[in-house]
Amino acid sequence: MSMDVGANLRFGADILAQAEVLAGFTEVPGEVTRTYCSRSHRQAGDYLIGLMREAGMVADYDAFGNVVGRYEAGVPGSPWAPVVMTGSHQDSVKKAGKYDGLFGILSPIACVRDLHRRGKRLPYTLEVVAFGDEEGVRFGVTLIGSKAMAGNFDPAWLELTDSDGVSLREAIRAFGGDPDAWPALDRRTGAHGEVVAFIESHIEQGATLLDEGLPVGVVTAIVGATRMKVRVTGLAGHAGTVPMGARQDALAAAAEMVLAVERHCTEHPGLVGTVGKMSVAPGAVNVIPEDVAFTVDVRSGDDALRLAAVAALRAEFSAIAARRRVTVAAEPFFELEAAPCDAGLQARLAASIEAQGLPVRYLPSGAGHDAMEFPAVCPIAMLFVRCGNGGISHHPSETMTAEDAEIATSVLLHFFEHFEPATVVPDRVPRVERNPSP
Ligand SMILES: [Zn+2]
Repeated sequence: MSMDVGANLRFGADILAQAEVLAGFTEVPGEVTRTYCSRSHRQAGDYLIGLMREAGMVADYDAFGNVVGRYEAGVPGSPWAPVVMTGSHQDSVKKAGKYDGLFGILSPIACVRDLHRRGKRLPYTLEVVAFGDEEGVRFGVTLIGSKAMAGNFDPAWLELTDSDGVSLREAIRAFGGDPDAWPALDRRTGAHGEVVAFIESHIEQGATLLDEGLPVGVVTAIVGATRMKVRVTGLAGHAGTVPMGARQDALAAAAEMVLAVERHCTEHPGLVGTVGKMSVAPGAVNVIPEDVAFTVDVRSGDDALRLAAVAALRAEFSAIAARRRVTVAAEPFFELEAAPCDAGLQARLAASIEAQGLPVRYLPSGAGHDAMEFPAVCPIAMLFVRCGNGGISHHPSETMTAEDAEIATSVLLHFFEHFEPATVVPDRVPRVERNPSP
């Protein structure tokens, strides 16, 4: 980006400059590593609160260290105003890029700044959230911030500890929060206005848009996943004396199974499958393998397709095992349903992209995002922004151009300005009063 280009942009250059400032809030100098309830979380949170207030929002931390900024609806103070939530995570993986999560916080702040400058209010309250934890680096459980807000938080997690033995409960307290206040964060109750939509803008973390020369895309679904543990048991034997035809080689059978995963997921568009971990016993150069354990990870935006793939793979594993006279046990240990994006919101996002004179590309998200927790609360949507450098993310060489940041923010602003919540019922009683919580 040259200075000339930057000077012509309403949002893009500022957003990249702000992302640069945020990259400086890190636990490890020289790289971006920012975990939940750390000192760098506080620095990033304070900076974001400053940006939100400057932009015209009322902003502060909630009890879990999420930063929440509100741009009140046209009738300020009305408890009946519906809420559109937007945002993403402030935390990072180890040695992260500068835009993962942060773009989804900085881009809507830029939208609000523009609305506020023009003195324009919306027919709903726009809430921008910087979730404290999404990546789960510190406590091993992911999406703590969005889980709390979507009513999916398990209080047993408060006893989880980090590598220094500090519990989640202690960490939230040390941050100045209140670990026992999690029920009050649940937005399903309608407190602070009924949430009618959640929309997240995020860097793609892949190369689909890059390869097709497109700056933005509409996410159709955040993929679901099945993870299996597979155990293949054969018979050990002397590598020199057992003839080839008489072997019950567990590793040779497992190798066929790995290729079956690859073949099935290649032949059925919409699936991805990975064998990422394998162990071999006894594991000696001169012994035929007897015991092999490996994992299978299958993902799809279509739950039916994924479940059919898992069933087909288990049947194929059994057939391979029978032919090779070994036994196999394949047990799923993790299931995550896909989070489909709302068709109506997708159409509105598509219209906002077309309004910029751009074609609309629909694509699934292979990675998890804060938005995936919100179907419990309201319809969700996601806007993807082109990821440069071959689509690399979760890595320091993740890139985004100021021009793409500009286009994506313009799309988002168009969406916010044209969104009219269908659920505005001026005389309805807020749910929080109808069903008072204990
Ligand atoms: Zn992210």
